[in-house]
Amino acid sequence: MGYAAGILPEAFSLVVATQMSISDEARARLASYEAIGGGILEDSDEAEMKPNAFKQTLKEIDIPTKKRPLPPMVEGIFPKPLQKYVGNDLNAIKWKNIGRGVRQAILKTDKHATARLIYIPAGTAMPNHGHNGLEMTLVLQGEFHDKEDCFARGDIEIGDENLHHTPTASGNGPCICLAASDAPLKFTSLLPRLLQPLFKI
Ligand code: ZN
Repeated sequence: MGYAAGILPEAFSLVVATQMSISDEARARLASYEAIGGGILEDSDEAEMKPNAFKQTLKEIDIPTKKRPLPPMVEGIFPKPLQKYVGNDLNAIKWKNIGRGVRQAILKTDKHATARLIYIPAGTAMPNHGHNGLEMTLVLQGEFHDKEDCFARGDIEIGDENLHHTPTASGNGPCICLAASDAPLKFTSLLPRLLQPLFKI
C-alpha cells in the first residue's frame, strides 16, 4: 500500500518493485491498492474549491500524462528494477562473508533504509533475531523456511518489532534474497551482536 502511495524509502520501494516483476499476485494486489486510493479520494469530505478549478481540471485532463508503467515481467534471478543496482550477472556480485557461509552485498540506496542481497547456503539458518523496525525479505532464488511458513521466489516476508525468527534456507539449494530494513536487527547471541556494526545489519 505504501508503494502504491509512493511513500516508501528507496530500499523498500526497490523490494516491492522487484516483486512486481516476478509475481502476478503482487501486481494484482498493487492494482487493488491503487483502486482503494481512488476510492478514498471519492469518499473524502467535500472542500471549497477555486472558482476556475473545474475549467482548470478539464484543461489538465486534455494534457497527455505519462502513466507509470509496471515493471516488465522478466525471467532470470535479477528482475529489471534490481538490475539497475546490481547488474545482471550473479557471478559478478561482490559478496562479503558474514559467517556460516552466509554472504551479503549492500546496495546503494538513500539513507532512510538499507537494501542488501543475501546468500544463504542450503540448509543454513540465519542467526536468531528480532527487529527494531521494518524488515522486508524477497526471495529471488531457492526458498527459506520460517517456522511453519515457506517462502519461495516472488514471496516477501515482512518482519517488525513483533517478529522474532530464524529464517533457514531449504536443503535443496542456496537461497538468495533481496532484503530491506530501516533499523538494526536485535540478535540474541553475542557473536552476531559484536559483528553487527561491521556488517551494517
Ligand atoms: Zn528478520
